[in-house]
Amino acid sequence: AKRRGDGCPSVFDSGMEVALEERLRLERELRVAIDEGQLRLYVQPQVDAEEVVFGAEALVRWEHPRRGLVSPGVFIPLAEQSGLIVRLGEWVLEMACRTLAEWSGHPELGHCRLSVNVSVQQFQQPDFVDQVLSVLTRHDVSPHRLTLELTESLLMEELDDVIGKMALLRRMGIRFALDDFGTGYSSLAYLKALPLDTLKIDVAFVRDLTQDPLAQPIARTIVTLAEQLALKVVAEGVETQEQLAILQELGCGGFQGFLFARPQPVGDMLAWVRSRSA
Ligand code: C2E
Ligand code: CA
Ligand code: CA
Ligand code: CA
Repeated sequence: AKRRGDGCPSVFDSGMEVALEERLRLERELRVAIDEGQLRLYVQPQVDAEEVVFGAEALVRWEHPRRGLVSPGVFIPLAEQSGLIVRLGEWVLEMACRTLAEWSGHPELGHCRLSVNVSVQQFQQPDFVDQVLSVLTRHDVSPHRLTLELTESLLMEELDDVIGKMALLRRMGIRFALDDFGTGYSSLAYLKALPLDTLKIDVAFVRDLTQDPLAQPIARTIVTLAEQLALKVVAEGVETQEQLAILQELGCGGFQGFLFARPQPVGDMLAWVRSRSA
């Protein structure tokens, strides 16, 4: 059995120990991955009520030299634990703005917005606002084309600070979406206090729409709530026509999911849009 550096037997049983070592290795490798360009930007198109593309969500992938494509479900939590999420987030933001600049040159994509996931740690960086503005400026991209996706976990933080930063960015034209809505602990009072533009209905509610009798009333409530607060609603994880029909009926105005497109390498988006309009 492995021993800790102080010579005492590890308190972990062997199974946990392997998991820990594996985690530490992955963490070391992730650090290298960011530096050596193993991260890939994928995007998943988003469509409006008429099923016309209005944007895409940026989703990061890790092309590991041996493991192949590693899912963010595995390495985002690691990145958060290790603090690497800040640098990873900066990389994604940089790539997103570079992409928007490139899209400007194509009539099919020039109107498309990009939605970027921002972790709490990244948002909390004292210079976060300056960073966002400077990366937009550097790529000569209008702030109106950028949406930042935040999660309810941000509401556990100093609220005045959160609202202050959001308000600054929003005044520049950046929009905000609350991700995975309904899965966290946010109170409705908080919701009203935040300068948001969009609620994203979590994939879990969408998945259950045709199965769980409670899922429809929940989705309906989210849509109604959004209407009351003058927010847009984007449903994520839409996989079937049936789910789409229910959501359209409820008045949901934006959709994202395998029914339309899987997350794809960012370079494939133009061909995808062209094939849709052909
Ligand atoms: P998320 O922000 O909730 O992203 C939506 C997830 O749903 C994505 O998983 C997407 O691939 C998946 N999805 C899309 N359509 C469907 C569908 O029709 N059915 C099902 N079952 N799933 C669908 P992905 O790409 O594996 O990302 C997982 C999570 O990792 C994201 O969840 C987000 O929380 C995090 N993440 C991804 N990229 C970034 C990033 O750049 N920064 C940060 N901070 N987090 C990221
Ligand atoms: Ca998201
Ligand atoms: Ca989500
Ligand atoms: Ca999610």
